[in-house]
Amino acid sequence: MVAMSRLNRDQLVQLAKSEISEITSRDLKDWQDQHKPMTLVDIRERDEFVQGHIPDAVFIPRGYLELQIEQHQPDRGAPIVLYCAGGVRSALAARNLKEMGYAHVISLIGGFNGWKNAGHGFKVPTVLTEAQRLRYSRHTLLREVGETGQIKLLEAKVLLIGAGGLGSPAAMYLAAAGVGTLGIVDFDVVDYSNLQRQLLHGTKDVGRPKVESAADRILDINPDVQVIPHNAPLTSTNAFEIIRNYDIVVNGSDNFPTRYLVNDACHLLGKPLVDGSIFMFEGQLTVYVPEQPELGITGGPCYRCLYPEPPAPGEVPSCSEAGVLGVLPGIVGSMQAVEVIKLILGIGEPLIGKLLLIDTLYMSFRTLKVQRNPDCPLCGEHQTVTELIDYDQFCGFPGREHVVA
Ligand SMILES: [Zn+2]
Repeated sequence: MVAMSRLNRDQLVQLAKSEISEITSRDLKDWQDQHKPMTLVDIRERDEFVQGHIPDAVFIPRGYLELQIEQHQPDRGAPIVLYCAGGVRSALAARNLKEMGYAHVISLIGGFNGWKNAGHGFKVPTVLTEAQRLRYSRHTLLREVGETGQIKLLEAKVLLIGAGGLGSPAAMYLAAAGVGTLGIVDFDVVDYSNLQRQLLHGTKDVGRPKVESAADRILDINPDVQVIPHNAPLTSTNAFEIIRNYDIVVNGSDNFPTRYLVNDACHLLGKPLVDGSIFMFEGQLTVYVPEQPELGITGGPCYRCLYPEPPAPGEVPSCSEAGVLGVLPGIVGSMQAVEVIKLILGIGEPLIGKLLLIDTLYMSFRTLKVQRNPDCPLCGEHQTVTELIDYDQFCGFPGREHVVA
């Protein structure tokens, strides 16, 4: 072995490569396609990274690698793939991570240039502006979000069904969090009786279309957000057309026909649905994700797995008859925003196959497991609901006995 003090550049690289593993871009692509667990790290400089990077890579510039790697991968036994532009800097960096005790550090042969020249796809990231770095600094400090996560949020498109009690906190928190596109479906105008809970709208907005006052409020919170108003009732005629353009749907509707329509449309389009409902002092929250084996998504039950058909009109009290605690939608709608952000970032465990029951009078939170129903008319073995249905308009919240069934 050559003495350390006498190594020239080429010898040092040689030595590093003899101590680490390397991977070809072809094999790395296979690993990615097979969803093999690994931490892929781009160690180039910021100006290189922003011109394009390998999908799913985290960005840790070489100078910060040893200082930040533990935040991204504390497990010394987990595979870490490093890449630079041509495969030299990453080989040297890999050797340093080995010294830190990382057992499976792999350097990409040929680096990003080799990957690109082999014709594999790459991503050109949006970069945060100085103003955005400041605005989202409390997010980017979180390892689970980081700058990459914040960019995902900015690129995400979320549709809110309703700008009412649930839609208000959901929209405001998603806007503040930097979710870049918020569509809002609502054809109502602001009424005095809304102001007890619908914080998107103020006293000065009474009589205005809700989508307009919502857009004003959202843009005041965060001018980064593009608000797309859909000032029309959601029906079987327009539901696909509207929902198709979004990544995730937040259900804040207060009536059964819309609830079934949104569930069916989201399922048929393969869109995740963050569902919430409120009644008097009680709230419910769950996430419906349709199974998509071709995308490796297991999914869970849908709304119809729990409630195959709507109850007959008259079986449930109307919202205006029953009343609702004004703070309650603030809790449930904020939780819907949390679930949306988790889905966008792919962090934590979304409420798929779980129904959260909230009772604010006793401040009790219970989570029930909900299974897919093989007899579900929408996602079961014998699908009978294959197109969208407009049920008669009525309002309410299913009783407990339905929930625990
Ligand atoms: Zn189902």
